[in-house]
Formats: sequence, C-alpha cells, structure tokens
Amino acid sequence: MKIRLDRVIKTFDTFRAVHGVSLDIESGQLVALLGPSGSGKTTILRMVAGLEYADGGHIYFGDQDATDIPVRDRGVGFVFQHYALFPHMTVAENIAFGMKVSKTKRSKPEIVTRVSELLRLVKLEGLGDRFPGQISGGQRQRVALARALSVDPKVLLLDEPFGALDANVRRDLRRWLREIHDELGITTLFVTHDQEEALDLADRVVILNEGRIVQEGTPAEVCRHPGSAFVMQFLGDVNTFPGVARDGFVFVSERATGIASTETGPVDVFVRPRDIIWQKDAGGIPVDIERILHRPDGLTVVGTTKDGVRVEFEIPEQVEPDLSRGAGIILRNPQVFPRGV
Ligand code: ADP
Ligand code: MG
Repeated sequence: MKIRLDRVIKTFDTFRAVHGVSLDIESGQLVALLGPSGSGKTTILRMVAGLEYADGGHIYFGDQDATDIPVRDRGVGFVFQHYALFPHMTVAENIAFGMKVSKTKRSKPEIVTRVSELLRLVKLEGLGDRFPGQISGGQRQRVALARALSVDPKVLLLDEPFGALDANVRRDLRRWLREIHDELGITTLFVTHDQEEALDLADRVVILNEGRIVQEGTPAEVCRHPGSAFVMQFLGDVNTFPGVARDGFVFVSERATGIASTETGPVDVFVRPRDIIWQKDAGGIPVDIERILHRPDGLTVVGTTKDGVRVEFEIPEQVEPDLSRGAGIILRNPQVFPRGV
C-alpha cells in the first residue's frame, strides 16, 4: 500500500509541530523518519496511524484520502517503545488479542494456527505460554511486532521500537526486522533518532528538523551528499573548521586547503574523523596534538589548530604516535557550507 502525505500540518495550541510535510512512501518500502527529539517524528507517525488528526493537508493510502478515516479502519499495525504488552496475558494471548477484537472475524482454530505462524516468524517458538515478565526486553518487542502483524495490516508503523534496549540487542533486532520486512514486503514507516539504526535498516531516510523535512534519500545519498550543515552534523561525528572562501577556494587557518568552492565569504568546512590525514611534512593545516585515545579499531587523535579549533581524527594502530610539533592535517571529502546556514 502506497502512502502519500501532502502538505500535512499539525498545531498543538499555538505551537506548530509539523509544518506542511509532503512525503511519498512507495508500496513495500521501509522508510525511516530520522530526527532529533522534538522534530515531529511521533506526531507524523500518529497522524498516519489515525491517532492524531492533521490540521491541514491530506494523507492518502493508495488512491484513497485517509485523512479523516479513524484508526480502527485504517488497517495499520503499530509498535511503540512503550506500547506495553498485557502483563496478565501470555505471549500467545497477547498476539491473539488483536485478532479477537478485529472486525475480520476468525475462528478459534484459525487464530491458533495464525499465532503459531507468527511465533515462528518472530523466532519465539515454544515461548507462547510465557508471560511478558518471563521474557527479555528484546523478546517482548518481538511479541509486540507479532501482535501488530496479527491483523495483516497494510501498513506497519514503528516508533522507536528498540529505543529502550541495549546497543547489541538493538543491532540484532534491526537486522532481524529488515529480514522480516523483506519476507513480508509490508509498507513500513520506522521512527528513530538513531542515525545508525535508520541507515542500517531503511530503503529511504527522511531527515526532519523542527517539523520540516530537511533532506530525504537513500542511505547512500544522504551520507555522500548531505545537503546542509545540520544533516552533516546529525548523521555522525564531524570536525568543523571555520574558513573563508575566495577566488574559488577555501582557506582554513589562513592556509590554502585546495578545496574548491563556489561560495564567497565565511564558510564552515565539515570533515569526518576518518577523512583527516595526519602528516609530518609541511603543507597541511598545523595541529598541536594533545591526546591519543586507544580504540578497538585504531587510534583517535585529539588536537587543536592554531585558531583554537578542536580536531579529532583517526589513525591506524600501526602508526607510531608522534607528538612533536610541525605535523599538519589534510582534509579529504570535505563538505563546505556558508557559515551559519
Ligand atoms: P519527536 O517524536 O520527533 O521527538 P514529537 O512529534 O513527539 O517529536 O513532538 C514534536 C513537537 O510537538 C515537540 O515540540 C512536542 O513537545 C510537541 N508536542 C507533541 N505532542 C504534543 C501535544 N499533545 N501537545 C502539545 N505539544 C505536543
Ligand atoms: Mg517521538
């Protein structure tokens, strides 16, 4: 089922949480809404679910205008971070619950068969008789997903479903969710504030800030071609060098960097830690090294330029750290944006 948002607006009292968002989610795609806390992700998801009504614009499910269709008639399944299971019901009863209250009536044997299919799908065979308090947090979210899927939704909506779990469990679950998605091919909207989670999981990533879409694209597109300083900073660790653009080139610490730019005037140059090359011979931007941090996959070097800008970059473990002065850095794959934009 294809979903389309057309200039959707949501205002709470006088506060506008969503500013005319337009978005196409193709049938069968897994799309991540990614943004910092308060950027409007949950509000958008709740409007797609029908738990919240838009104050302006339209939401289409396929060709049908679903803007005013109530939640129980939309055919959506959802999983929320804190959408707790019923503690007094077993895992199997929790999964069956949606089918029992659904308008599409199923017979008892049909429900039993469907529950065991779903338990197999979410890899919890044999745990149907446990209570939610007797399984792990990750297993509980898998039950929540099975419950959401039990009514054969046309659309699956997930709001930070793994947000409360440990990093390792989260990583496993996101790969697992992707496999389930590929098996079922259900149109899915996934909300997260975790860049890695969005980039790992989604076919397309929609980046939000203050109730507006600031960029959307495949994970490769948003990573390789960030459209703004905000996106560059939000997607991962980055060094920011204030510089000046003139005559087609960027200067940092009054040195020519060789970075071409069509801007003129103050700019910020953004460079990922792995894209800084440290070299001893002259030519780079001079950096005083302050600390060397040991990490499992190499060394992280912390220093400052003579403008007082803090720099962090990575060097391979085999490189003998040399703290003597006179070393400089070369910037690879820089992204240049006018200052303050
Ligand atoms: P996110 O999920 O990206 O963290 P939300 O969609 O929950 O963001 O919230 C977006 C903005 O709308 C926030 O500033 C939040 O405080 C505000 N907001 C959300 N729900 C309500 C509400 N029911 N009443 C008033 N303000 C709300
Ligand atoms: Mg939220």
